[in-house]
Amino acid sequence: MEIENTLLTCVSCKRQLNSEVDKCPHCGKKDPFMFKKIEKKAGFLMFLDILISFLLAIKICSLFGGGLVVLAILLWVLTAVFAKIGGFFIKKHMDNTVLKMKDEMKTIYGNDEEANEWRLAMTKRIYDLLKYC
Ligand SMILES: [Zn+2]
Repeated sequence: MEIENTLLTCVSCKRQLNSEVDKCPHCGKKDPFMFKKIEKKAGFLMFLDILISFLLAIKICSLFGGGLVVLAILLWVLTAVFAKIGGFFIKKHMDNTVLKMKDEMKTIYGNDEEANEWRLAMTKRIYDLLKYC
């Protein structure tokens, strides 16, 4: 596990905190960088992607005959392929979402540099979350 030391500003009290904290130690603000809102969305899209991939794979498998082993292998391969395709679009969509949110952060922080730091940290978290897609 790598140790991250990116400093970000708490949206509530505007003090610099380690980007990994879930709660501001100064003002008690939960989710002090508003990461959770976007992470929830990415998590939900990933869940949907995997579910749809799985259902699609079952549908395609049902068109083939073959034994249970063939079915299992097909299901495994097809699900992996569909999840990758869906993941590509989810990443694109999330990049856009983060970019839009960055403008909001720029307004809150009052400067572009901090908003850019926020975007880098947010993007890293999203890609970590989506690494299985
Ligand atoms: Zn704070």
